[in-house]
Amino acid sequence: MNFLLSVFIAIFGAVVGSFLNVCIYRIPEGKSLVFPASSCPGCGHPIRPYDNIPVLSYLFLRGRCRDCGQKISPRYITVELITAVMAVFLFRHYGFSLHFIFTFLFTAVLVVVTFIDLEHGIIPDVITLPGIPLSVIVSVTVMGVSFLDSILGMFLGGGIFYLIAVGYELLAKREGMGGGDIKLLAMLGAFFGWQSLIFILLVSSLLGSIVGIGIMLIKKEGMKYAVPFGPFLSVAAVAYLFWGFEFGYMMTFYWG
Ligand SMILES: [Zn+2]
Repeated sequence: MNFLLSVFIAIFGAVVGSFLNVCIYRIPEGKSLVFPASSCPGCGHPIRPYDNIPVLSYLFLRGRCRDCGQKISPRYITVELITAVMAVFLFRHYGFSLHFIFTFLFTAVLVVVTFIDLEHGIIPDVITLPGIPLSVIVSVTVMGVSFLDSILGMFLGGGIFYLIAVGYELLAKREGMGGGDIKLLAMLGAFFGWQSLIFILLVSSLLGSIVGIGIMLIKKEGMKYAVPFGPFLSVAAVAYLFWGFEFGYMMTFYWG
């Protein structure tokens, strides 16, 4: 029974992931998320319902359009699988509760942010600007964070990154951290409370350094381009969802 429930939650996650793919494709282009129905970017043929089944259709079609044979980005199946796995993990962590619903929604937003940042190098304001006040509301009403901790998280999150960005520009004489990262960290701080920021900054910069050094070694050239930082912040935020509240309480205990 437990297994069947997990399968059901995984299917639910994959279906949501399929919609997140639409968001990732359309939000940077400023297009409607609802109309028109999806079509192949290669030949414009509308996608048939039976070719639109999450995960499975990509496998059956071997990653190509049925009509013109153009390659479908592996991002589609990747996002569907990640969202399905996240749904199952969060369900096992929180059970069927408001916590589950809202942490899953929050994670879905982070998946969209991550893949838009990877493809376009931006974090759209249409996500983070409404995301910041919504995070404060969910944080206080569902996550059990106090209003003060959430507001402090928002201001500190935005402020810390703003200072890092300004400092980096002064030292390196070029722009490193984008404004999108600043607003994303403000949103994360608002969602988890200020106690989360040290954990999120530590984990994300550690991951960012490892990947950055890896890319430098493979490409054998200096860091001429900035690696998008949104994905690392998002991964760190998901890690905080599972392990961070203990870390946060520890910090409160230490300072309090
Ligand atoms: Zn096509």
